[in-house]
Amino acid sequence: MHQFKRKAAMKKIAVLGAGLTGAAAANTLAQQGYQVTVFDKGRSAGGRMSSKRTEQGYLDMGAQYFTVRSDVFKQQVKEWLDAGQAALWPCSTALLSNDDGLVSFKASEDKQERFIGVPSMQSPVKALLQAIPQVTSCHVHKLDYQQQSWTLFSDEGLSYTGFDAVLLTLPPVQAQQLMAQSALPELFDAATHMLEPCWAVAIHTDAMPAQDAIFCQHPKLRFISHQQYKTERTPCYILHFNTAFSALHLNEPAAFWFAEATAILRQELQIQQQITPLVAHRWLYASQNDQVAAPGLIALPQQQLWAGGDWSYGGRVENAYLAGLNLAQAVIEQDHQPQELL
Ligand SMILES: Cc1cc2nc3c(=O)[nH]c(=O)nc-3n(C[C@H](O)[C@H](O)[C@H](O)COP(=O)(O)OP(=O)(O)OC[C@H]3O[C@@H](n4cnc5c(N)ncnc54)[C@H](O)[C@@H]3O)c2cc1C
Repeated sequence: MHQFKRKAAMKKIAVLGAGLTGAAAANTLAQQGYQVTVFDKGRSAGGRMSSKRTEQGYLDMGAQYFTVRSDVFKQQVKEWLDAGQAALWPCSTALLSNDDGLVSFKASEDKQERFIGVPSMQSPVKALLQAIPQVTSCHVHKLDYQQQSWTLFSDEGLSYTGFDAVLLTLPPVQAQQLMAQSALPELFDAATHMLEPCWAVAIHTDAMPAQDAIFCQHPKLRFISHQQYKTERTPCYILHFNTAFSALHLNEPAAFWFAEATAILRQELQIQQQITPLVAHRWLYASQNDQVAAPGLIALPQQQLWAGGDWSYGGRVENAYLAGLNLAQAVIEQDHQPQELL
């Protein structure tokens, strides 16, 4: 004889991480009647899709844009566009290369459509989480599983109990630390090198470039973006330093990064106007190392714990969204498996 497990409407799910993965998972499960609560150590939702608010407008310090390949993400992006939560970024692209000091700058014929959140990169994430209870400024440092129920413990000295399932959408190093502190199997060994660091620097100058998405083959940089055609953003440059240079100078202060960014804008983009540093932000776990194979979702199905993120499928915003859908699907499928009666 078989019976189905508790009905979705009665099941409580804790989603750790309010980035796009967590938001997509939480939204899908809530629509299916699950009671979902999302936890994040940040002050608000968005994760690596984050823009910093300033008096002049937003600064996109993390993801610069997102692209669309799959039909399912295309449908979601259409909904965000229709609701005014996303917009097309009408950018023109270029390639900057610096080969042993030989600098070349070429405009490129790139027809790729690129989208941004509106008014900030985190807007689509916040839209997905609109109706879902969230606990922010909550750094979860330990999990405990007793009698088929999860309890979460936070750095702030609080605990949250009674969850049937847990979804971890943290970068793998942080997920691994959480598993270790919870005396749970350390499932993330192979994934801990997936996400690499990136220093991001915002710089203001009156110079308006002809190209505003500049891909770099450069000893220090990987991408320069200009926000002039991004809705509700401060018109300024955002420079993303590459993994090697960011890792080499990981603990340098903001002043070091402002000096580096200024020198690059002067020397490589020939900017003569006054340059004003705005913000420098260090991402310890930024984007995917292409040399490491993406592991897919990671699971402890007996305890109803699943983990995933952009890193599960190759990085990027779209893969975070797909990971969120797949995490939700894993919970739903587990619920529909028949269980032997004792
Ligand atoms: C500088 C930079 C540039 C990028 N550029 C692009 C781009 O142009 N295009 C593109 O497609 N992608 C880009 N990306 C990648 C893109 O931002 C990510 O793929 C996507 O946002 C990942 O979403 P996620 O939900 O999987 O992870 P995250 O957004 O990292 O969400 C994880 C969340 O978990 C929370 N968290 C971690 N530990 C804990 C804990 N112990 N307790 C509670 N909460 C915790 C974090 O605060 C975070 O909010 C870029 C990323 C960076 C950093």
